[in-house]
Amino acid sequence: MMSPITTTRHGDILIVTSNNPPVNALGNAVREGLVKAIEEADGDAAVKAVVIRCEGQTFFAGADISEFGKPMQMPMLPMVVDIIENCTKPVVAAIHGTALGGGLEVALACHYRVAVPDAKLGVPEVKLGILPGAGGTQRLPRAVGVSRALEMTTSGNPIGARDAFDLGLVDRLIEGDLEQHAVAFADEVKAVRPIPKTSERDDKLAEARAHPGLFDEFRKANARRMKGFDAPEANIKAVEAAVAKPYAEGVLDERRLFMELMTGTQARAQQYFFFAERKASKIDGLPEGTKPRDIRRAGVIGAGTMGGGISMNFLSAGIPVTIVEMEQAALDRGTGIMRKNYEATAAKGRMTAEQVEKAMGLLKPTLSLEDLADCDLIIEAVFENMDVKKDIFGKLDRVAKPGAILASNTSYLDIDEIAASTSRPQDVLGLHFFSPANIMKLLEVVRGAKTAPDVLVTAMQLAKKIRKVAVVAGVCYGFIGNRMLIPRQMQAMQLLLEGATPEQVDKVHVEFGMPMGPFQMADLAGVDIGWHRDPTRIENIRDALCAIDRWGQKKGAGFYDYDDKRRPSPSPKVQEIIDDFRAKAGVEKRDISDQEIMERTLYTMVNEGAKILEEGMAQRASDVDVVWVYGYGWPVYRGGPMFWADTVGLQEIVAGLERQKERLGSDFALSDLLTRKADAGEKLTR
Ligand code: NAD
Repeated sequence: MMSPITTTRHGDILIVTSNNPPVNALGNAVREGLVKAIEEADGDAAVKAVVIRCEGQTFFAGADISEFGKPMQMPMLPMVVDIIENCTKPVVAAIHGTALGGGLEVALACHYRVAVPDAKLGVPEVKLGILPGAGGTQRLPRAVGVSRALEMTTSGNPIGARDAFDLGLVDRLIEGDLEQHAVAFADEVKAVRPIPKTSERDDKLAEARAHPGLFDEFRKANARRMKGFDAPEANIKAVEAAVAKPYAEGVLDERRLFMELMTGTQARAQQYFFFAERKASKIDGLPEGTKPRDIRRAGVIGAGTMGGGISMNFLSAGIPVTIVEMEQAALDRGTGIMRKNYEATAAKGRMTAEQVEKAMGLLKPTLSLEDLADCDLIIEAVFENMDVKKDIFGKLDRVAKPGAILASNTSYLDIDEIAASTSRPQDVLGLHFFSPANIMKLLEVVRGAKTAPDVLVTAMQLAKKIRKVAVVAGVCYGFIGNRMLIPRQMQAMQLLLEGATPEQVDKVHVEFGMPMGPFQMADLAGVDIGWHRDPTRIENIRDALCAIDRWGQKKGAGFYDYDDKRRPSPSPKVQEIIDDFRAKAGVEKRDISDQEIMERTLYTMVNEGAKILEEGMAQRASDVDVVWVYGYGWPVYRGGPMFWADTVGLQEIVAGLERQKERLGSDFALSDLLTRKADAGEKLTR
């Protein structure tokens, strides 16, 4: 097999070129080729300097993650970078595209770095639950200083070449032909001795050595962002070692921390999730080569909470939107909120005033459904009521142009029934956005019985364009995400009756890593969502709260009391209501353990997820996990509910559910798939 690494000469400069599409990942053959090329440079007196460059769209964009979890093949990257740094001729990295992870570690081992101005450099390892393990945590602080190294390693976010140049990470910005200028640069530096090695630098560590408290300050300032994750802390420790110890010892710390992470559950979860997200966009069983429909203008019906946010996604992506409301006041209010949201983004510096105007300029507000006639996609986001939705889809059938895609943002309702109110059910599907729709990344694409393949393909492609992660769901009550929420919320309420407090239940969820617990979520979303709106009809705790206006944060009271800064505190009134219901129901109050809360609220979710799988309502277990990470903030370091269940062990999940069976209510049934897999010692995610 031909090596992806080739060498050519330009006078006394050896040009080492990688050609390993698509992203020049540092797979085994590339690593071998790099070592041979450096040997060639070392062994040939005619070579005075070396340039390492890449063909195609990018410099080395990272390790070959298909090699993760497999036996490591020699030469490993830490060896390769040392060989590069120890080359007896100056080595110049010529960077275009992205130098990421192992790619940046290679560049850091080179003696000089030149880059085109739009190149990006970074160490995203933390996002996969690990750290840059080829000297990156030791060389990066030496090149950019400790503060920036901490920021880069713990966030995983890349920096631009201009920023890198200002920091001294890049020695020269190249306008024009990169290879040619890199060779010229190599020619300039070929005689410089000693050859500058990043690992031998000390100057940029001085600040941190003088002020070792910097690390704890960083930990404190970033505690929220890093909470629950192992990898950011390991990255910090590795950078700390770079400061406290000589290079040779620091790399040993790096290696040890790397191995600890690599063999831990979090890295497995995060790497699993990396692939889960990519798999989610693939739809099973579509005819080969199905072409998407062209979407030039979108229509949105309803300018409420969801309609406004949904519209913003399209406007931000440069797709014009016609938005329809029933009354002028509602229309003005809705579009006003959109503008305010954009302006808030601009105030934070994440958008320019021109971009705000450009986005809002693409919006056409109207009170007439007829104005949707030129839309290629129409998304309905009106009240959650089947009759209202059917009426709208019936009208849309008459208004929309042939081939227009008709979507509903319904949370629970039957897409097939909605589709049946049109003469074109093949054009109908669910596009279920999550609130706030302009921010949440998840989009459930609900596939109706008659939804045409090209409609699905269009939806998946469009999701990418508006920067959402789409997951295909089948038609069932609540689809994937909300359906799994139902047993969780039911059990959470039941637990209150039996003696738990909202604070206790929420605490278990927050400590697990969720952004909030069931009651905090109810207060945020609105306790009144789905309420029958009759204050005289009080059948459960929720009804009782709604009847006295405790609708959640928006009313300053829900399951919790809120002060004027929206800070929650336990509510004696709610406790009174709970105690009242307990007495009426004749339930005896008891102490409830955190483990029981887990089993009743999280194990039941896993069970529902397994049912969704066995009914074919999700294509694959990993799709369920993508829904929960992107739709509800499930901690990615636990992979998602299906992956997490596998780490707990399906036998333990089933045993836990069996333990609680008496308390789970008469509606509860164990999933066949779950019990079958548990018995067979299999996993949900394989
Ligand atoms: P909302 O009450 O905030 O907004 C609905 C809007 O639709 C109102 O402004 C109303 O005036 C307008 N409307 C009603 N009938 C109309 C008609 N015939 N023509 C034009 N406009 C009309 O509701 P929402 O929270 O935005 O929810 C909308 C849909 O999205 C529901 O189906 C809901 O289940 C779903 N959804 C809501 C959330 C959420 O968290 N709020 C999340 C996902 C999905």
